[in-house]
Amino acid sequence: LFFLVMPLGRILNVYTQLQLGLAALERMHEVLDLPLEADASDPQPLVRSAPAVEFDGVEFAYAGGPPVLRGVSFAAPVGARTALVGPSGAGKSSILALIERFYEVDAGAVRVNGVDVRRLPREVLRGRLGYVEQEAPVLAGTLRANLLLTVPAATDAELLAVLDAVNLSDLVTRTPDGLDAEVGEGGVLLSGGERQRLAIARTLLASPPVLLLDEPTSNLDARNEAALRAAIDAVSTDRTMIIVAHRLSTVVDADQIVVLDEGRVAAVGRHDELLVSSPLYRELATHQFLAT
Ligand code: ADP
Ligand code: MG
Repeated sequence: LFFLVMPLGRILNVYTQLQLGLAALERMHEVLDLPLEADASDPQPLVRSAPAVEFDGVEFAYAGGPPVLRGVSFAAPVGARTALVGPSGAGKSSILALIERFYEVDAGAVRVNGVDVRRLPREVLRGRLGYVEQEAPVLAGTLRANLLLTVPAATDAELLAVLDAVNLSDLVTRTPDGLDAEVGEGGVLLSGGERQRLAIARTLLASPPVLLLDEPTSNLDARNEAALRAAIDAVSTDRTMIIVAHRLSTVVDADQIVVLDEGRVAAVGRHDELLVSSPLYRELATHQFLAT
């Protein structure tokens, strides 16, 4: 009965989430707990000239927990690469979760193309966003099956194109199985770097205008590091990107860097500006980024 009273779009959404195995049961729970009316009531049209994503005085805490974001404001311009940096626990991943509306803000607003996410139908919001988690889930099965999770109707040519964009063409050519090559349980037959790039390729297949990416903290070898960098460059062409950055190479190229500290925005600027203006950024850049 529960499913029968849900609009079809929601069912599809929930189904997509399940398929993706997005870190998840807990998060599914959050999504399902949100009031259904909020989606349907008074939907607003997207504003093309507005920032792709905007945080306006956002206050947020996980249920029963201490404040995680305190008055966070910043705007991610359309087509630009915005990097989020800050010490562990500063609230970077939580910001991505709020953009996806996995959780609701306690005060302030998150807007996508000028519209409060609470007034966007969920399928519209999902259509705008692609999200690549830090520990991106890779399912047992073939390369093809992993890619088709987002766009079941994609052609082989499209699959090969996204694999090429993230520098994974060799996964197709290194066995006679091609796209039917098995990735192993949880992707064990792939390296960590390859798994992340496969997740990027899968997200890319859906051509989201806005890509949210939680960069892996783990050490990648030089080859995987370079491949990840190339993949990020490839996917950020013609696309808004908000990336939780753990690498100096990611922030150096960013159009805008938002420095977070204990849930607050400590500084916003470009790399060279922040080196001068923000002692925390200087500290992060010198000691904490993996400067490979
Ligand atoms: P960062 O990505 O900058 O390391 P997070 O956004 O992951 O920071 O976490 C910010 C704070 O929120 C931390 O104190 C963390 O422990 C807490 N936190 C993160 N996720 C959850 C969750 N699902 N439930 C409760 N607390 C959480
Ligand atoms: Mg994080």
